[in-house]
Amino acid sequence: MSSSGDAEETRVALWRVFDTLPTGVCVTTDTGTILYANPALHGLLRYASGGLTGLDLAALEPEDAFFPALPDAPGERRLRCQDGGTVWVAESVGPTTGPLGERQSLRVYTDISHHRQAQAALRDQLLMKEVLFETLPVPVFVKNAAGEYTDCNDAFERYTGLDRRSIVAKTAFAVMDPRIAKAHADQDHELTVNWGQRSYEEAVPFVGGTTRLSSLTKAVFCDSAGNLGGIVGVIHDLTEGLPSEERLQAILEQSPIGVSVSRRDDGKIIFVNTRFAELIGLKREDLIGRQARDYYLDRHQRERVIDRLRSYGSVTNMEVQFRRADGSSFWTLFTVNQAVIQGVQVNLAWIYDYTDRRNMEEALRDMASRDPLTGIYNRRSFMELARSQLARAHRFSEPMSVFVLDVDHFKRINDSYGHATGDDALRMVAGGCQAILREYDILGRLGGEEFVVVLPGATAEESRVVAERVRRHLSRMAIPGPEGRFHLTSSIGISALDGSYDTLEKAIHRADLALYRAKREGRNRVVVYEPGM
Ligand code: GH3
Ligand code: MG
Ligand code: MG
Repeated sequence: MSSSGDAEETRVALWRVFDTLPTGVCVTTDTGTILYANPALHGLLRYASGGLTGLDLAALEPEDAFFPALPDAPGERRLRCQDGGTVWVAESVGPTTGPLGERQSLRVYTDISHHRQAQAALRDQLLMKEVLFETLPVPVFVKNAAGEYTDCNDAFERYTGLDRRSIVAKTAFAVMDPRIAKAHADQDHELTVNWGQRSYEEAVPFVGGTTRLSSLTKAVFCDSAGNLGGIVGVIHDLTEGLPSEERLQAILEQSPIGVSVSRRDDGKIIFVNTRFAELIGLKREDLIGRQARDYYLDRHQRERVIDRLRSYGSVTNMEVQFRRADGSSFWTLFTVNQAVIQGVQVNLAWIYDYTDRRNMEEALRDMASRDPLTGIYNRRSFMELARSQLARAHRFSEPMSVFVLDVDHFKRINDSYGHATGDDALRMVAGGCQAILREYDILGRLGGEEFVVVLPGATAEESRVVAERVRRHLSRMAIPGPEGRFHLTSSIGISALDGSYDTLEKAIHRADLALYRAKREGRNRVVVYEPGM
């Protein structure tokens, strides 16, 4: 054995020390031929045991020379694995000497693939955030813990008219009116004391050197040590483009229904469509900022709406009257829903002008209850009203009377002057009765030239006085006919309510019997019913 052989053996024995190291280690010649590689390096590069011995380091260079990688830290490189894949390592190289004093290198490789992957992911994330930040259509800004702006996005620059470079490293006091800056600083102070998130409304600088009332949402963020890092803020425009989509706006504009949006916290109107402005009779811009509650006509109706909103969260097709700017009023079908638009809690109100429909309905209801010729109650609604009066009379044991009136020889009027004149005469009889009767007496047309009256509270004798007055009044009316004015007479039969089991039908029947007696006794007279008639 030569001394060099001994030395070689010693050297190899020394290399065996590296066998148990978890880090990759190899020894190469001066020219880069691998003399020894430990199991950890074999494992890292996925070579079989001993497979690296004799290889040239150049064989471990990745094939793809170009790799769009991160800027390499010193000593960080990629090595090619046996299967063609690559692995990121941190390489440190130290000189050593061989058994014959030849120069060799000891190389240590630490696997940093995971670290590199995490770094790349983080970088992607940051890039993503950057893109988001810049392309977000909402103005966003960032301040540090000292209240100095550190960044803002394009939308912020466009909204406020402030240039990024002119605000960075400055506080709000250097950027805007001190009064406004103080309001924001106070909010920031609250936030840094209580942490979390905060929304409020305040003027902010607006493009063109003015200011604009806006809603701000701010949140604090931590630095890596968990201390206050700063504040990130988002600005919402309150006055402009409420549904920002033009299409949506166009639909709202063409809507035959008035739409208004008002803030829940202070009731201020922040949006109305053209129809709403039309209904109220003001310009849109004059409506913005006013109180929604000013447009209710009736305080009770308003309170009902508010109650419903509180209990159910919405109101659907409630009949509510609104006030126009000129003081007149109109009926609406009113629907309100609560919503959050751009971070603001609002009431979304829809008003449908219901006045015409309502008037029509009223007219229809009225028409159905009236006799078309004379305008007094028709038989059906007379009976309804009279029945409720009768129930009342029973309940309070009050007197009540009924009388039936029939025009004498009415057929002759028709025959002599024609049907149209007969109609005029009937209208005048109805009007003549109404002129004499009290407000709470009920007059109806039973049919033909026969009328009926209910006198609440009147005994038969009191009724006779009224009926006598009616009869006299009608007989004195001069009715215009084709051949000059003429007169008519009438006969009236009266019956008082008879006990607590009496019905309206029975009372009218008794009055009819009395009327029959009046006719028989020569007409143009009043007869009170008596048993046996
Ligand atoms: P009496 O004194 O017995 O009541 O005689 P009369 O002629 O009034 O008798 P009757 O009740 O038989 O006649 C009523 C007439 O009234 C018959 C009918 O042609 C007429 N008449 C009924 N309704 C109308 C109406 O709406 N318009 C007109 N012009 N005439 C009517
Ligand atoms: Mg008659
Ligand atoms: Mg008759």
